[in-house]
Amino acid sequence: MSLVPAATGQAAAVKPDTTGADSLVIAGMAKLSTCDWPGKLVATVFLQGCPWRCGYCHNPDLIATRQAGTLAWRDVVTFLERRTDLLDGIVLSGGEPTRQAGLGAALSQARELGFGTGLHTAGAYPRRLAEVLGLLDWVGLDIKALPTAYATVTGVPGSDKRAYQSLRLVVGSGVDHEVRITVDPLVHDGPGLEALVETVRQAGAKRIVLQEVRAEGTRPDYAAALAGRRLSDVIGSLPEWPDGVAVRAES
Ligand code: SF4
Repeated sequence: MSLVPAATGQAAAVKPDTTGADSLVIAGMAKLSTCDWPGKLVATVFLQGCPWRCGYCHNPDLIATRQAGTLAWRDVVTFLERRTDLLDGIVLSGGEPTRQAGLGAALSQARELGFGTGLHTAGAYPRRLAEVLGLLDWVGLDIKALPTAYATVTGVPGSDKRAYQSLRLVVGSGVDHEVRITVDPLVHDGPGLEALVETVRQAGAKRIVLQEVRAEGTRPDYAAALAGRRLSDVIGSLPEWPDGVAVRAES
């Protein structure tokens, strides 16, 4: 902690900066990803902590909000400075990256280094999302369910309002984006999924991706309830999806 002279002539402690990029609690980094921002070669930085509790979360170790980080932002910057010719950008992921106040500073710094900036978010903090949208080149936004079923997925009442406000913000910003819907057979059936896709389309989402739920890494009770069911079990009998809707199934 640094010290500066106080008006009295005595030294006074300066509070740690809790909003700068150095305040980020970082769980880890993938140094090269070809899938975290479609079409781009990126490094992905995983920020610790999420306020929601989705059964299908395959990074449950990243949920705890009081967990210490494993990597300092300055080490991420050092890495990026050596990759300016090799990477297109950086993606801030999580956990829920908009939970942390240092997000905007980190995105600014990444841009100053010449990198494109991407964000993975579930939209849990729309106010901070609104603050950083101008610093982003691409957003991958999770929309989990119709509003009435949202808390069934996240375990948190009111999460629907935050997520749908974030959807409106992303669409209204004009920032390039992809809305991801994880098809959870415990929540979605065919007609419900069609209604959800139509709701997101009507909100103005440019691109929607239906993605496979994965049992690996999830809570044992969730994996047991899933009982091997997959995206194909939900969408199998549905007709073709409209333009702008893609299915990202795993073999
Ligand atoms: S919002 Fe994302 S990180 Fe948070 S619990 Fe749900 S799946 Fe996990």
